[in-house]
Amino acid sequence: MSFTLAIVGRPNVGKSTLFNRLVGKRLALVDDQPGVTRDLREGAAHLGDLDFTVIDTAGLEDATDESLEGRMRRLTERAVDMADICLFMVDARAGITATDQLFAEILRKRAKHVILAANKGEGSRADDGVMEAYGLGLGEPIRLSAEHGEGMTDLYAMLMPLA
Ligand code: GDP
Ligand code: MG
Repeated sequence: MSFTLAIVGRPNVGKSTLFNRLVGKRLALVDDQPGVTRDLREGAAHLGDLDFTVIDTAGLEDATDESLEGRMRRLTERAVDMADICLFMVDARAGITATDQLFAEILRKRAKHVILAANKGEGSRADDGVMEAYGLGLGEPIRLSAEHGEGMTDLYAMLMPLA
């Protein structure tokens, strides 16, 4: 049986980079400047022998009259409700922020399954952020480098029993 995975998290943590890696086509825009991708984007993902649908949440930072927090909450809740599993991504280089804590709270209340991913995990600079991620209360984080393709076997190991 197939499933839907939503990648959620604050802007710039690497959600679209992972989406592109899983989908294998440049369906989602990735840019250093926040605000390039918008809303929810869906693609057909492959990881090992798993085929599933992946949703990239974007558009969190688009300027509207709605507050960033309100927009973030609304888009994230929409993605969470569409998904069987949520991959909550944090930036291991930046460390855990107040915004990450807000996401963690939404997911704890609403998501069926949460996989915590500490991205930008390549190199020892990420060690402190990975350790901090344990404090979110969402279980053991998997250490990823979406850009370098590291940690994909750990992601597979988390998804496989849920598929
Ligand atoms: P999004 O806003 O969460 O979708 O983040 P993006 O995928 O657009 O990535 C934001 C920035 O982080 C880009 O400059 C990416 O190249 C960079 N990035 C993504 N994944 C990694 C990673 O694993 N390591 C490092 N060092 N940078 C990354
Ligand atoms: Mg993006």
